[in-house]
Amino acid sequence: MDEQEIAALLATEDEEALSALFHRAYETKQRYCGNKVYLRGIIEFSNRCRKNCYYCGIRRDNRQIERYRLSREAIVAEALWSWKAGYGSVVIQGGEIVSGAQTDFIEACLREIKSKTNGELGITLSLGEQEDESYRRWFEAGAHRYLLRIESSDPDLYRRLHPPSHSYCNRLRCLEALKTIGYQVGTGVLIGLPRQGVRELTRDILFFKQFDVDMIGMGPFIPHDQTPMRRSLPHFDAKRQLQWGLKMIAATRLTLPDINIAATTALQALSPDGREQGILAGANIIMPNVTDRHYRTGYQLYPNKPNLDENADSTRLALEASLAATGSVIGYGEWGDSPHFARRRSPSAANGPGCGSYTVDR
Ligand code: SAH
Ligand code: SF4
Repeated sequence: MDEQEIAALLATEDEEALSALFHRAYETKQRYCGNKVYLRGIIEFSNRCRKNCYYCGIRRDNRQIERYRLSREAIVAEALWSWKAGYGSVVIQGGEIVSGAQTDFIEACLREIKSKTNGELGITLSLGEQEDESYRRWFEAGAHRYLLRIESSDPDLYRRLHPPSHSYCNRLRCLEALKTIGYQVGTGVLIGLPRQGVRELTRDILFFKQFDVDMIGMGPFIPHDQTPMRRSLPHFDAKRQLQWGLKMIAATRLTLPDINIAATTALQALSPDGREQGILAGANIIMPNVTDRHYRTGYQLYPNKPNLDENADSTRLALEASLAATGSVIGYGEWGDSPHFARRRSPSAANGPGCGSYTVDR
């Protein structure tokens, strides 16, 4: 799809045309990636952050939250729970801290998780911009995917979302470094920002294509009261934000048919079945929260984050039922790498989704 075609899809407003768009994207996902949805248990390991992104609830200058960092034992326990539940992978996510101690800490967690799961559990990191050396050490310790959103591929918009010390160029440099080291690289953007429209979002999708991404995690912007952007959308309309999120998933799927696309939690914050709607619009990944409930209120990147009280077991059962209703099955015990990644690494070895599988006994 070229720029004009993507822009035309994103401009769709009519209900019937939207249903047709989502259906086409869903069919494309079925054809290229199969009907499995892969689960990545997300471990929100720390809300300490050196950055001050204007939109984010755990930004450094928000003094109204209590800061925490999970112990290594707690992180490993949550990873083991995910493995035993048959989640193919976990995502270790947190605020951006750059230090030798942090690099050592994450490396030790990775090695322990890998050894206690016989190397079977896939591990994604989402820890922001780091030194290449840290990225390299974590890769060698067993992490194989990394999520770093570009937030907006438009440098001007990026500048309006961040303080001057936050560098768009460094973000790009990090994405390149991750790819060179060998990670499966995921990026994404905030959707429905002030002064962002069809033109900017179309270019975001073209950026994903040009960067040749393996995975996308993107979601609607939800203003947080304790941030400088709290009043940036005076007429906040949850339905409209959700619709933008779904349109972006569908248009991205039609442009990049064989990548992994997450139905992110921000969709669920806007509507209880937002993630299922994301699956029906072409997404194939869900990231259930497996963090100890005690810490969840401390990780409010945006307000109304769901599942604050749910335990991981009930989340899994509820997901199984709601995904079955979308015609999908959960790819238990599989890493669920994107067919795109397999093709990128070895063009002749790309024979569909689900590499790196193990059997689970549940
Ligand atoms: N510190 C890491 C990972 C945690 S933040 C990083 O920045 O990469 C994960 C994502 O949360 C960010 O990439 C951002 O896009 C999203 N996020 C932050 N504030 C948000 C908000 N108000 N609405 C929606 N998404 C938000
Ligand atoms: Fe920190 Fe990430 Fe939030 Fe920015 S988006 S303030 S880097 S946690």
